[in-house]
Amino acid sequence: MKIQTIEAFPISFPIPEGNSVTLGIGRSVKRDAVLVKITTDEGVVGWGESHHGRAPGAVAHLIRSTLSDLIVGMDALANVTVWDRIYKMQLASHGMGAAAAIAMSGIDMALWDIRGKAANMPLYRLLGGEGTPVTAYAGGIALGYQAPETLAEEAAELVGRGYRALKLRIGDTPAADIARIRAVRDALGAEVDILTDANANASFDHVRRIMPVLDDVHAGWLEEPFSPHDYPLYERAAQLGTTPLAAGENHYTRFEFRDLITSGTVGILQPDLSKTGGITEGLRIAAMGSAYGLEIHPHTSTTALNMAATIHFLAAIDMPGYYEAEVSKANPFRDEISDQKFTIDSNGCFHPFQGPGLGLEIDEDFVKHHPLIDGPGYVK
Ligand SMILES: [Mg+2]
Repeated sequence: MKIQTIEAFPISFPIPEGNSVTLGIGRSVKRDAVLVKITTDEGVVGWGESHHGRAPGAVAHLIRSTLSDLIVGMDALANVTVWDRIYKMQLASHGMGAAAAIAMSGIDMALWDIRGKAANMPLYRLLGGEGTPVTAYAGGIALGYQAPETLAEEAAELVGRGYRALKLRIGDTPAADIARIRAVRDALGAEVDILTDANANASFDHVRRIMPVLDDVHAGWLEEPFSPHDYPLYERAAQLGTTPLAAGENHYTRFEFRDLITSGTVGILQPDLSKTGGITEGLRIAAMGSAYGLEIHPHTSTTALNMAATIHFLAAIDMPGYYEAEVSKANPFRDEISDQKFTIDSNGCFHPFQGPGLGLEIDEDFVKHHPLIDGPGYVK
């Protein structure tokens, strides 16, 4: 079975004013994603998601042109060989670095969808998993900068829906961060796991001021206080307290994860299957994390494709962490793009879909009706 065509669809939806969320990277005004559709010469179709990379049109063009030229005609079930060809010809050799990793992520995910359909198995089974329920935290574009009282209300509502862990957006001012963290802990009690994410918007001094509070509320982690490659800062910040640092959504391929892991600065690994090189590379990263005793808490982004893939992945790897459930108020790319719905069970868990491959059907009319909107997704 050979790869016959590769299509890429950059898609967007505007965020209504009332649903906008402010976090360390700015105020959300739209959401973007890139969908990848691969058709084989036997008529099997697979779908994957590439992260928008803040340049969804460019990511889609890279997939449709350069990467398509490299791999059309290759064996559609040879994920490792396809990955290796793109890596050697584009990413590792005067190619486009992170853009190539993002673009190949969607291709790899679509090939795993094809592989599952060819084998008539859901992805988690194909990966050797039993389908264990995956514990979730409430994340995505939510729980942003706002008055501590309304933040505590939003958090309480999520706990009421079944979440036992949630992620607060910090990296505002130290005083504002501290007031919000304390308000949520006071409102929710000790049982809920509070996670925090600064979106690379903090300084070392900022972390020095908030770390005692993170330790005091027993926060689960502090995510990306600094730019992802500022290892010396991560190293110093890791000495400030007991709350583990987390990173990985902006680390690409196992090679960057090797450096992150061996830096010894983080306790939480967060690869994103739509960014870091797809499921093939996610498995390699998970194996490396396991060897170092580090759980995998994937970053998930915009559409049902990456969400479904991530749940399958977590239901199959040996040191799964939380599934990041995208709990933003209205996300049609989560709720309306496919025939499947994401629901949390009474134990705060999500379950992998049971259909072959990723286990969902993409609504192509919906995709056509959400063309790319140019311009930034976040404004400051
Ligand atoms: Mg993050």
